[in-house]
Amino acid sequence: MNFKNCHSASAIKRNVVFEFDTGRKTKPIPKRKNKKVMEERKCLECGEPLRGRADQKFCNDLCRNAYNNKKLGKSSKYIRKINRILRTNHSILKDLNTENKTTIPSKKLEKENFNFNYHTHYYKTRNGKVYFFCYDQGYLKLDSNRYLLVKKEDI
Ligand SMILES: [Zn+2]
Repeated sequence: MNFKNCHSASAIKRNVVFEFDTGRKTKPIPKRKNKKVMEERKCLECGEPLRGRADQKFCNDLCRNAYNNKKLGKSSKYIRKINRILRTNHSILKDLNTENKTTIPSKKLEKENFNFNYHTHYYKTRNGKVYFFCYDQGYLKLDSNRYLLVKKEDI
């Protein structure tokens, strides 16, 4: 009798401990991370959350088209800006190059706001001189004070 009581008492004790342990382990922890990753995927155009394929970028074709049109609009604006600079450079050179082969002081180009950052192409001679062109109008730096202006057919 004594032994039996003793045994069942320890069994109960163990049960209590066991239940206590599993109780702690079932606390909800992880799921959050997954939810956050899902929330970060948004339509590139309107910002609405995306729920489709992992590589989905837009909620529909309207958003895709709107986004692509804007993107193209930006790049054509940039192209127009550079074309404008090139055309201005070209007309400055054309106006100054009165004899199709003219030496001018550097100050004249600077005064006209000539943009030295942009040209259409360049031509390097055998002896290493580099002519820069804006379309058919070119220039060669002779020294720190002078430029030689040329027209395409002269080279
Ligand atoms: Zn959208």
